[in-house]
Formats: sequence, structure tokens, C-alpha cells
Amino acid sequence: MRTKRIKIGSETEYYLLKEPAKCLAEGGLVVFPTETVYGLGANALLEESVKNIFKAKGRPSDNPLIVHVASKNQVSEVVSAIPKVAEKVMEHLWPGPITLIMPRASRISNAVTAGLDTVAVRFPSHPVARRLLEEAGVPVAAPSANTSGRPSPTKAAHVVEDLDGKVDYILDGGNCSVGLESTVLDTTVTPPQILRPGGISKQQLEEILGQVVYDPGLTNQRAVPKSPGMKYKHYAPKAQMTIVEGKDIAGCIGRLLEKELTQGKKIGVLTSGNHDYPADFIIDAGESAEEYAANLFDALREFDAKGADVILAELPFGESGIEPAIRNRIYKAAGGNVIKC
Ligand code: AMP
Ligand code: MG
Repeated sequence: MRTKRIKIGSETEYYLLKEPAKCLAEGGLVVFPTETVYGLGANALLEESVKNIFKAKGRPSDNPLIVHVASKNQVSEVVSAIPKVAEKVMEHLWPGPITLIMPRASRISNAVTAGLDTVAVRFPSHPVARRLLEEAGVPVAAPSANTSGRPSPTKAAHVVEDLDGKVDYILDGGNCSVGLESTVLDTTVTPPQILRPGGISKQQLEEILGQVVYDPGLTNQRAVPKSPGMKYKHYAPKAQMTIVEGKDIAGCIGRLLEKELTQGKKIGVLTSGNHDYPADFIIDAGESAEEYAANLFDALREFDAKGADVILAELPFGESGIEPAIRNRIYKAAGGNVIKC
């Protein structure tokens, strides 16, 4: 398949979305930018098209997809009921990086929900995504536009690396501003549960909803996560990665480097504002949590491109805002290989 690439810089170029929107509605695969990461979209009402998403990504078929809508009104097309909790979140935080689990409508393809009786729904805020969804006029199932297991794509170039020749269109809308996937909130249980931390924080949800809890499967090694996707190894670079947290991150990385450097391996360090390590190369993801989140997946791909054997990563963050989402992704990328100093 020849993949058409279209760059959409400004509103004056939105007319370029007509063709890909038509292709999407008629069963094609279209990659589009969102504020979280790039999405690989198919018409959520067409079973065969949705199955093509799983083929293109190599995604396990028991991992359900998020359905993207163009408006709050379109939600009733894909769910059988809207829980009160979901209504409140939609009112305050949509469009934005928060996905709501609701009871599913039967017309949604089984391939989307992986046979569950619920469906995940999101209304993204990225203007290109919004216009594409409006033009397509159908709900669009879209997981992240990467090969399953690789770091999620936050630039069109990442998508090209993974999916060129496997999709009809790649729409380039620049870098994704959040850089990590949406928060997934189960609104069918009381209290509502965060199944995946993401772009909207627990604190933001609690301001609107009162008590909100994390799915115990996220933190407890023995509990199975309720979100099927959370059990897979994810976001992983090719190098062996170690996360370093705690009060003396720099000292700890310094000591680890002394050991690793004697082994003749190519060593990269992922830093948060620091530059002074004797490593083969350093990638600085940025000092603030927001910058670090936005740069993380690009950095992981960059380590692969530079051929790192070992990555040591500074993780100087706590529990507020997007920090739990950063920790969730980077722990998975490192396969749980964490040192607390
Ligand atoms: P991705 O599309 O790659 O960003 O992943 C979507 C995430 O939402 C995965 O972790 C899925 O397992 C999760 N998800 C999608 N639908 C449901 C659902 N009905 N119930 C629970 N988790 C879901
Ligand atoms: Mg994904």
C-alpha cells in the first residue's frame, strides 16, 4: 500500500482533510495528530476496517480500542447509557486528554471492544483531529499509531518509522503537546476508577467528582489491571533501561556509570535538566514534568536510533499532575527495572 503523507500546518489547509476523512468513513486507515499522541484511526462501525488496525500495529486482539467522537452529542451513537459521572467529566474536561469507559452500544464493532460490554470514548481537543472527525461523520476507533510495544508516536516521523506502507494516510500536525496517552476513567463503577493515568490528573478529576481511585491492578503486582492494555510490556526501547528515583539521583547514576562504563557498552542517560554525566550521550527531556512528558517517547526512540545498549533515566517526580502518568509509562518502558536512591 502507498501511504499518502499530508502536512497540515494551519486552518487554511484544513480543506486537505476532505479526502482522508472520506477514506476513513469508507473503511481506510488514517493516522492523525491528537493532543496526546498520534492515533491510527478506522471507522468504528466497520468490523473489517477495525481489524486492519490490529494487523497494521501487530496489536493483540484482546486489547480494546478507544472510540473518538467529534462532539458530546455523538457519544449517544456509541454508548447505551451515559453515567452521571461521565456527564460531569464531559461537561468540564472535554474536549481533552480523558477517555471515559461507558456501557457500549451494540452497533459498535466487537473488534473495538474486544468483546467487553463497555466502550472507551474520547473527544480529543487537537484542532486537526476535531476537523477530521467532523468531516468523517462517523465514530473513529484509534489506538496509538505505533507498532505494538514500541514507544507511542508524538511526531509524524515516529509514525512513518512504524507504519509507512501499512496505512492509507499519515496526517502531519506537528508535535503532540501532552505527549502521553489519555487518562482512562471507568465511569461504570462507584467510586470511579482510573484505569490508566494520563493527561488529566487524579486531582483534576477529584475536583469535579469527589472521590476517585486508581485501579488496584495499576500498583499491586498481584492484581490484574482492569484495562486489558495495561498488562502488556509497552513503550519499550531496545536498550536495557534502569530508572533512578529518590534524593540522590545524580550520585546514584554516577556510581552506576562507573560500573557500566567498564563493560564496553554504549550508555545513554535520560536527564531532567542535567548534562554532566560521563556517558556516551545524554538526552535531556526537560526540567518540568510537562516538558518531560512531552519529550519522553521521542527520547526513547532517539536512544534506539543512537544504538544505546544501556539507558539510565533520572525520574525526579512525585505524585501531582501528569507525574503519575510519566512514572507509569517509564516503569513499563524499563520493564519495572527501578532503583530508589
Ligand atoms: P491505546 O489505544 O493504545 O491508547 O490504549 C487504549 C487503552 O484503553 C488500553 O489500555 C485499553 O486496554 C483501554 N481500554 C479500551 N477500552 C476499554 C474498556 N472497555 N475497558 C477497559 N479498558 C479499555
Ligand atoms: Mg498504545
